[in-house]
Amino acid sequence: MKQGRYANIIIDISHEKVDRPFQYKIPEELKGKLSEGACVQVPFGTGNRLRQGYVVEITDKAEFPDEKQKLIKGIVTKGVKVEADAIRLAAWMKDTYGSTMIAALKTVLPVKQTMKPKEKKKITRLLSGEEVCFLWAECVRKHQNARARVLKALCTEPVLPYELVVGKLNVSPASLKSLEGQGVIAIERESCYRNPVKLETAKEAGKALSGEQESICESILSDFDMGKNKTYLIRGITGSGKTEVYLSLIEGMIKRGKQCIVLIPEIALTYQTLLRFYKRFGDRVSVINSTLSAGEKFDQCERAKKGELDVIIGPRSALFTPFPNLGMIVMDEEHEASYKSETMPRYHARETARYLADLKGASLVLGSATPSLEAYYRARAGEYELFTLDRRLTGGKPAEVSIIDLREELKSGNRSIFSRRLQELIEDRLNKKEQIMLFLNRRGYAGFVSCRSCGYVMKCPHCDVSLSQHMGGRLVCHYCGYEVPQPQKCPSCTSPYILGFKAGTQQIEQLLYKRFPGIRVLRMDGDTTRTKDSYEKILTAFSSGEADVLTGTQMIVKGHDFPNVTLVGILAADLSLNDSNYRAGERTFQLLTQAAGRAGRGTKPGEALIQTYRPDHYSIVRAARQDYEAFYDEEILYREMGAYPPAGHMMAILINAREEQKGEALSKRAAELARGAAKPDGKLSHSVPDTSVMGPAKASIGKINDIYRFIIYCKSSDYGQLTAIKDKIEQYIQSLGLKDENVQFDFDPIESY
Ligand code: ADP
Ligand code: ZN
Ligand code: ZN
Repeated sequence: MKQGRYANIIIDISHEKVDRPFQYKIPEELKGKLSEGACVQVPFGTGNRLRQGYVVEITDKAEFPDEKQKLIKGIVTKGVKVEADAIRLAAWMKDTYGSTMIAALKTVLPVKQTMKPKEKKKITRLLSGEEVCFLWAECVRKHQNARARVLKALCTEPVLPYELVVGKLNVSPASLKSLEGQGVIAIERESCYRNPVKLETAKEAGKALSGEQESICESILSDFDMGKNKTYLIRGITGSGKTEVYLSLIEGMIKRGKQCIVLIPEIALTYQTLLRFYKRFGDRVSVINSTLSAGEKFDQCERAKKGELDVIIGPRSALFTPFPNLGMIVMDEEHEASYKSETMPRYHARETARYLADLKGASLVLGSATPSLEAYYRARAGEYELFTLDRRLTGGKPAEVSIIDLREELKSGNRSIFSRRLQELIEDRLNKKEQIMLFLNRRGYAGFVSCRSCGYVMKCPHCDVSLSQHMGGRLVCHYCGYEVPQPQKCPSCTSPYILGFKAGTQQIEQLLYKRFPGIRVLRMDGDTTRTKDSYEKILTAFSSGEADVLTGTQMIVKGHDFPNVTLVGILAADLSLNDSNYRAGERTFQLLTQAAGRAGRGTKPGEALIQTYRPDHYSIVRAARQDYEAFYDEEILYREMGAYPPAGHMMAILINAREEQKGEALSKRAAELARGAAKPDGKLSHSVPDTSVMGPAKASIGKINDIYRFIIYCKSSDYGQLTAIKDKIEQYIQSLGLKDENVQFDFDPIESY
């Protein structure tokens, strides 16, 4: 334990103004007892109100004279200590993503309070088996039935769980009390872990690995044995055996006495993942996520700390499970947007996992069928090692995918959302009693505007992203603020059918009932999945054949196998394509690839239809051919041209304000600071020529809950330049001590603002 007379403490108050360590003197009684990471109570501010805080450093270096130092009041007994590595991780997150230190500390602390252990009662017989048997016979004779039941059980079992006796044997607590009073039994308490995993399943050995799988495992494990803690990217279509590779790798890690974190993109996928890991490793596997109670979470962390767990499965926050011997982090479906935090610090699990892996000497394994541009870019650059699995091990041919040109449909007078071909195929599948999935890849709030006759999309002349439809007939660029009134006629072909695209899953459901009387439809979207297990329920109902069609948003395309689905319809591929975000093409490719992959998972061949107004767009063409490499090559060109991530780095600065004018003023000031000694073209004039600042502009949702939102974008090839800008603005904000405004940072953003 580090010795020293003073402790530097981060106070648990979420305000920029106090976001720095404050020094306190360590009182005699705490000398040698206090360590870095401890949760303490200290007098704070002029009123010396008692506040909680975390020790981030113990030192002998006084920052001001002894007589002015306040004393630490004491250690918070219910507080949870932050591990030394977690403090480092928090500091890194603060520097890399921008946030207060206390927010970063709270992010890396999976549980904030210690919890009393759960207690289990047990009944122990205090007499020998024979003596108990004798008593049992006596009770039977006296018709003391309840007593007889428990004594009978105790003849053979020296210890019984209390719940079993009270429950199954139906013996009242009063009867047990009296047996205890007579000295026949003892009722004892023992503490036990709350376990969120309620599975009883036999262990299964792993499959014999294929040659490709084998060589991936050997390569990664032998790197590890040589002390190389690299990042690996496994690109492989669904069903190509990635999970089997993860299982084998983890088995290898467990043999080496190491622990592993398995990240999954959605809590909804927990059960199926857990089941597979549990079959392999039994109860040394657990889960951690927001559906757990505080006690369950606390206990999983305790088990992890004590080395009683080998594997934890969870969403991005599972990274903060306190494993003392972390050997590997697996990140499945690495490309998913949910790996990025939406609150400060807005960390990305991929980079955070890499930093953690470096701290702990662990390996990082990423897996995806459609890797993020970031991961593939780094794999191409040699920063990650790339492995490819391109055979489907589950049998079944990939679906046949065709593209339907919706402009042609309109020309032939069909204004329905269902193309003629799709209608034919739906009819056909209904007759054959096969199932259908209809997918609407809608996301974001504001819609784009396109021409139904020629497919022309209204775009920003400066940013090459589509304009978003705002109230009052205005079209706005979310990156630079460019604005035009919505045209009455298509600028390209003068057709009057230039409209915002609006269609919801609910409308689709209604249209299906109308067009195909008697059809059975299940709908899955934000509305129908509000309650806790509605997601599982809908999927179970569909897989047991209770409906002909499952329609919904991207939720329906993930991770589930429906062998009877032989038709997948993607109703309007353009919806995600025209999301005003530089990642729109990537997201579309991913969604379409995933969606098309849903058809033909069983023995019957499958077919997928992609309906679109832009049949020539590379995201759509490449997804239809399931050609990731070709997609990547085109997409990366676009990113390089616009200096978008991963070709460069980007930082969004989001300014929130209660009053519009104040927000505007603050945004302007922040943009000025960002520009530094800026040249008129928005570029920085000093050493780094390729840093540019755009904005401020009104955010796409200009006001949420009466809070006005402004946005500034900064781009640079050098991440350090962006954090320098962030630091500058943070300092400025600190000096202001703002109450009604705040500034947030988002690096390499995924969200559209
Ligand atoms: P992915 O994670 O890429 O979707 P999985 O690991 O789930 O792929 O494998 C898909 C299916 O193939 C699973 O049913 C799995 O049990 C099976 N499988 C994987 N590897 C093998 C293997 N080496 N031999 C036989 N079956 C395998
Ligand atoms: Zn623009
Ligand atoms: Zn047109």
